[in-house]
Amino acid sequence: MNKFQTLGLEANLLEAIKDLGFETPSEVQEKSIPILLERDTDLVSLAQTGTGKTAAFGFPLIQKIDLNSRKTQALVLAPTRELCLQITNELTLYAKYKKGLNITAVYGGASITEQSRQLNRGSQIIVATPGRMQDMIRRNLADITAISYCVLDEADEMLNMGFYEDIKSILSHTPKEKNTWLFSATMPKEVAKIAKKFMSNPAEVTVGSRNTGTDKVAHEYYLVNHRLRYEALKRLADANPDIFSVIFCRTKRDTQKIAEKLIEDGYNAAALHGDLSQNQRDLVMKSFRTRQIQMLVATDVAARGIDVDDITHVINYQLPDEIETYTHRSGRTGRAGKKGVSMVIISKSEQRKIKAIEKIIQQSFTQKQLPDGNEICR
Ligand code: ADP
Ligand code: MG
Repeated sequence: MNKFQTLGLEANLLEAIKDLGFETPSEVQEKSIPILLERDTDLVSLAQTGTGKTAAFGFPLIQKIDLNSRKTQALVLAPTRELCLQITNELTLYAKYKKGLNITAVYGGASITEQSRQLNRGSQIIVATPGRMQDMIRRNLADITAISYCVLDEADEMLNMGFYEDIKSILSHTPKEKNTWLFSATMPKEVAKIAKKFMSNPAEVTVGSRNTGTDKVAHEYYLVNHRLRYEALKRLADANPDIFSVIFCRTKRDTQKIAEKLIEDGYNAAALHGDLSQNQRDLVMKSFRTRQIQMLVATDVAARGIDVDDITHVINYQLPDEIETYTHRSGRTGRAGKKGVSMVIISKSEQRKIKAIEKIIQQSFTQKQLPDGNEICR
């Protein structure tokens, strides 16, 4: 018997799960789903990136939606538009055999009129970024006063991005008697604060230790002279011809510059950052997903929550300002049980940061030498 069948899920969901090809629930799913189905409770669920949190809330949420009403019954908040679309797509797949369930994605950079029109047709679930949601509420284009469920997905990311006030304001438009489900990879103080302020006596699920990255990821660093950073990047790419990677830079400018250089040097690369239009970003993501692009150079904000399977390498061209962000970067690889490598290109003066990261991820780095000239085909 399939283990999903023991969690209390309805037949239509089990059917959809079969189509998705999920054979066994992941740990966070196995622990969260029964709680959400059996009890009317708030929940804080902590599990690393890539452990299947979307389905952990998505399956129960879909089961709970009452198709007799077209009122908005659930709001899912997520940090970025990419993630918002991704969750919407996933939920739509989960609800494949629950006909009449409508889900609307509400996010910035796309027509608010169109989104509002979609809401007017009756949407039981809204998946939104905090900024645009706040905007829609202010303009009276969305009604969340009767929701029964609120999901805060990637809560640590949302707070990292400064959405606390937006979240607070959005929640003030929701009824008191609802259930709030918070999902997060890490539990920094800000997340604990949200849980304390907006949730009552939440059930708790923790998978793994609270702050670790995924141990399917090997962490490596390369000490290089600051001026040879770009050269180092090329060598790493050359030594791994099948590379399918996200390369993180700190600023939009560097992101654009490095991507342009790579393209000029004949690599299969593209940039992803906030100065691109939504259309351009969608196009880049599509080319990346379909492997027309091998090296996606991105800022942290643009890359947040992106779930592209089989990313082989995450390359930290520059380390993030906030060390905790490293966890999210490296979490882009090693997903769904696959192995991945997270590489850091670092100059001597920053070397002590490695120790600080090791503490957070509770894993050690291996110091590696750049592949030498002989291994590189130019
Ligand atoms: P998280 O939100 O925890 O970072 P996601 O929900 O994005 O993780 O899931 C990561 C990947 O794992 C997705 O590609 C998803 O389709 C896949 N996945 C989720 N649950 C299962 C499962 N039970 N079996 C196989 N793959 C799964
Ligand atoms: Mg997620």
